[in-house]
Amino acid sequence: MLDVRSCATLSEAAGILSGDRQAVLIGGGTLVMRDVNEGRLTEGTLLHVTDPAFRRIEAGGGRIELGAGVTMGMILANRELAFLHPAARAIGGPAVRNMASVGGNLFAPAPYGDFTVALLALDAQVVVQAGFGSGRATPLEEFLAARERSGSALVTSVQLSRPANPGDFHFRKISRVKPKGISVLSIAAHLPLTGGRVAQARLAYGAMAPTPIRARGVERALEGKSLDAGAIQAAKQAALEGCRPATDAIASEWYRREVLPVHLGRLLAGNSR
Ligand SMILES: Cc1cc2nc3c(=O)[nH]c(=O)nc-3n(C[C@H](O)[C@H](O)[C@H](O)COP(=O)(O)OP(=O)(O)OC[C@H]3O[C@@H](n4cnc5c(N)ncnc54)[C@H](O)[C@@H]3O)c2cc1C
Repeated sequence: MLDVRSCATLSEAAGILSGDRQAVLIGGGTLVMRDVNEGRLTEGTLLHVTDPAFRRIEAGGGRIELGAGVTMGMILANRELAFLHPAARAIGGPAVRNMASVGGNLFAPAPYGDFTVALLALDAQVVVQAGFGSGRATPLEEFLAARERSGSALVTSVQLSRPANPGDFHFRKISRVKPKGISVLSIAAHLPLTGGRVAQARLAYGAMAPTPIRARGVERALEGKSLDAGAIQAAKQAALEGCRPATDAIASEWYRREVLPVHLGRLLAGNSR
């Protein structure tokens, strides 16, 4: 049988999650409730967090903190987060966006996880609370690498720096059905320029591996270069480094490998499609 338990504080939820292997946190529930409705989740306790900190957005300054329970709809309603709107708007339709949370997206299996791709290109940190102690910030890339093993901890928030120039941040989701299709793949890039050259490029892909990944080969190819045809060609050649895409109902592994360099080239050239 399934119980539902409401937790007034993040500590209470973290404590229960750490101590009870059958406890499952509900963020927006878009994936958890599908498991319940389709009979895959039938035992244990569903935890619902009412602590206001879980849904808090702090976005006034250079440092941004998003409570893990913040939804895509809340991000889209916040003008200070305009640079994240393309990524939040890419998640499902309006009903899904009003429930889908930032925290839940970190756990969504491929080919989901589009918002996490944006956070990865922005070098975000994930604040994780295990037990009743205080939260610990972990680089998102590390968190994703350990995701399948770290099952029972609570993500309380995500922290990131605002890009100095929002125009340096790019996000693109490639899907076959528009506007609500699931990703063939997604790409996010933060490409700050110093003296016309890329400095500290950060690129990430979704649906090109079991979790969102950094595109290290592309980052290396672009570092210190101006974004001209030569650099874009070098980036396309390095595009598939580290990729392990799956074949699923949306696209084959072959197709994902074929189209990634094309879309990466378009993104880097500033083409809108
Ligand atoms: C019709 C439909 C369309 C979708 N389209 C997209 C899409 O285009 N792009 C995309 O990326 N995703 C998509 N999704 C997947 C999903 O809606 C999103 O990834 C969403 O962000 C998941 O968040 P949630 O809060 O609903 O997760 P939930 O269903 O609440 O949780 C998902 C998992 O994460 C765990 N979890 C959630 N929050 C926390 C936390 N704070 N700490 C620890 N564990 C936590 C839960 O226990 C569960 O295991 C779609 C889903 C549906 C049903």
